[in-house]
Amino acid sequence: MEKTPKLETLAVQCGWDPSNGDPRVAPINLSTTFKYNTAKELADLFDLKAAGHFYTRLSNPTAEVLEKKMSALEGGVGALATSSGQSATAALVMNLCEAGDHIVSTGTIYGGSSNLLGHSFAKLGITTTFVDQDASEDEIFAAVRPNTKLLFGESLSNPSVKVLDFEKFARVAERAGIPFAVDNTFPTPFLCRPFDYGANMVVHSLSKYSDGHACSLGGILIDKGDFDFRRHAKKFPGLTQPDETYHGMVYTEAFGKYAFITKARTHVMRDFGMMISPMNAWLTNMNLETLHLRMQRHSENAQKVAEFLNSHPKIDWVNYPGLENSKYNALAKKYLRACSGVMTFGPKGGRSAAEKMMDSLKLAAIVTHVADVRTCVLHPASTTHRQLSDAEQLATGIRPELIRLSVGIEHADDIIADLDAALSEI
Ligand SMILES: *Cc1c(COP(=O)(O)O)cnc(C)c1O
Repeated sequence: MEKTPKLETLAVQCGWDPSNGDPRVAPINLSTTFKYNTAKELADLFDLKAAGHFYTRLSNPTAEVLEKKMSALEGGVGALATSSGQSATAALVMNLCEAGDHIVSTGTIYGGSSNLLGHSFAKLGITTTFVDQDASEDEIFAAVRPNTKLLFGESLSNPSVKVLDFEKFARVAERAGIPFAVDNTFPTPFLCRPFDYGANMVVHSLSKYSDGHACSLGGILIDKGDFDFRRHAKKFPGLTQPDETYHGMVYTEAFGKYAFITKARTHVMRDFGMMISPMNAWLTNMNLETLHLRMQRHSENAQKVAEFLNSHPKIDWVNYPGLENSKYNALAKKYLRACSGVMTFGPKGGRSAAEKMMDSLKLAAIVTHVADVRTCVLHPASTTHRQLSDAEQLATGIRPELIRLSVGIEHADDIIADLDAALSEI
């Protein structure tokens, strides 16, 4: 490989470097444990004095292939693969925060993340203030408190597809002396690299475009290794004070720029056990080999579909950052290589028109998923957000006629013909 391979090359080749006679494709290591010749060798692994696999809850060679590849794609120093996107975000929070701590997050994040931060962690004493991501730097900074330990946002939000102003958020985090972490699920590292714009950590739901075939759940936490925990030592005792469960070892002293990602594994994963299965890691790694081809096609198709819908007389509005009239078009041009495959739109005629249109689709399937090769749609008002009142739905940006469309990699003409035929029914 050349010295700094491009993302396309990393997606195909990185993570597995077979020696003479080894399998060309990284094997699936379905083994919970690993054999050593002496008790001393195993003891050194337990004491973190040597590196190596000993129990799959902590690390596994197949998961490691995936971790190396995703870390290289994002430009990080290391990664930790988890059982789902939810557990990747949970691991991020648990590695930085304890009861009494506080997080500042953008408001329009994925519903699961908003439940996790707003409700489940709140019950454990870690609270979150949600801010408008389009507010000014000073307004966002005003939400920071002395006990704030993390600034969090989504690069391209699900489902509202708002583009994050990375540099504004990075400035807030810098002023606050806290890490800035980004959920980069929708763009994937191929369309956006948050580390290039000031993020310190990235999480992904690998269940979306990274796997991309709707077959495997997974998540990942990646660290750039550049947040100076020692400079803010009092705020992060877990990283800068002796860890009694490892004979008084101090992560920042023992591991330097690898402190955060090492602790995520040896502490959070050791105790909470949300490891990815080797089978899912293998599938995701395999599917990542075509990430760049898929993301290009998803984005090209979505652009054509968005333009078609935008000019259709029966469509009231279309929300896709790739459209010139989108509020987020300038940020998309600045931070995204292309705008990925998800959009929302509303047909004229309200909720009943939206339901009729969805029922008339033939190629696009109604599923609770986004971001795989097959085009799919969802009506949040009657599914993911149905427990909310009409007023509450509107407050979270869910209009009654809103349809979320995830554009697949079928031929764009066929996707458009399907939408056109369904629109002629309303
Ligand atoms: C789906 C999703 C998640 C949660 O991921 P799971 O793998 O379903 O747990 C987190 N963030 C975003 C942006 C998502 O789209």
